[in-house]
Amino acid sequence: MKDRELVIVGGGPAGMAAALAARAAGVEDVLLLERDQYLGGILNQCIHPGFGLHHFKTELTGPEYAGRFAGLVREDPGIEVSLSSFVLKLSPEKELSYLRPGALEEVRARAVILATGCRERTREMIQVAGTRPAGVYPAGLAQKMVNLEGWLPGREAVIAGSGDIGLIMARRLALEGVAVKAVVEIQKTSRGLVRNVVQCLEDFNIPLYLGHRIARIRGQGRVERVSVVKVDDEQKDIPGSGFDLVCDTVLFSVGLIPENELLEMAGAELDRASNTPVAPDVNLTSVPGVFACGNACKVYDLVDWVTRDSELAGRMAAAYLAEKAGRK
Ligand SMILES: Cc1cc2nc3c(=O)[nH]c(=O)nc-3n(C[C@H](O)[C@H](O)[C@H](O)COP(=O)(O)OP(=O)(O)OC[C@H]3O[C@@H](n4cnc5c(N)ncnc54)[C@H](O)[C@@H]3O)c2cc1C
Repeated sequence: MKDRELVIVGGGPAGMAAALAARAAGVEDVLLLERDQYLGGILNQCIHPGFGLHHFKTELTGPEYAGRFAGLVREDPGIEVSLSSFVLKLSPEKELSYLRPGALEEVRARAVILATGCRERTREMIQVAGTRPAGVYPAGLAQKMVNLEGWLPGREAVIAGSGDIGLIMARRLALEGVAVKAVVEIQKTSRGLVRNVVQCLEDFNIPLYLGHRIARIRGQGRVERVSVVKVDDEQKDIPGSGFDLVCDTVLFSVGLIPENELLEMAGAELDRASNTPVAPDVNLTSVPGVFACGNACKVYDLVDWVTRDSELAGRMAAAYLAEKAGRK
């Protein structure tokens, strides 16, 4: 088993910012493990503008924002990047196992930063009734299909959830010629940025049904339509308010869940409702020397704040390592 000073899991914006900040704070040996073939995380599929307004004071696309950090990471001789490397295990002693093409590797770290991001909540998690036809996707998965794989999920879509991912996908599908019938939001107001409501829905004449929910998905084999119903202040269905929308595709944009299985394996305490680490401050976990940053720590709206807080995580890990080594 090889010994490493700092191992970072996840090469999205959080992991890259943490790696660079740890190096700037004196950490000499950083191993950055990413399961994908590229650095950049979720930003690689976010080809729309709107990133970096705070951090870079200019508007970038997701890949442009990620590219600025990836360039710096690759140039740093103290950061070893291992792509296609899926971390399977993390022990309380900070021993990690990861699978890379052709090998199972094991390393022992003096400090670990988990920057593993989020996964999407699904239809099952909000308990939508109906059949289980093809054509139902989490919105971020549909975004990956359209922007990275180059194929459309369908021709007529309804989107559940008006957070930023749902709004951005409404516009993205409309730009590709999909008839976006509606965005349906159970809350009384949109959960997304105002600029996204205007630029993604109003500019494309896509109806937004606030205080409504998709009550049932209908169709055999493929989605044929959804039944939408208005809800009251307690989010209970209002009888007689229902109507159907014909569509072949339903996207769910109903929240993100931090991916913290590794943290749990390491024995850290997690808040069961949010799946985030229980700790007195941002980036900390209940296991000394194991830090969590970016969307793994809490769900962020803007990548600029992911960068800011993840740089802090890098400095916190550096301070921990310096203290352990008796340098402070
Ligand atoms: C659809 C969408 C639109 C968005 N639009 C905007 C916007 O307009 N403006 C803005 O500022 N922000 C936007 N955001 C938010 C921003 O992109 C995220 O906050 C940011 O990407 C989170 O960074 P992260 O590094 O924490 O997570 P991620 O980017 O998800 O990176 C996590 C990385 O960890 C890797 N990983 C996970 N588990 C393992 C493992 N076991 N082993 C190895 N690697 C692992 C993953 O492969 C991934 O690369 C958007 C997000 C989405 C999803």
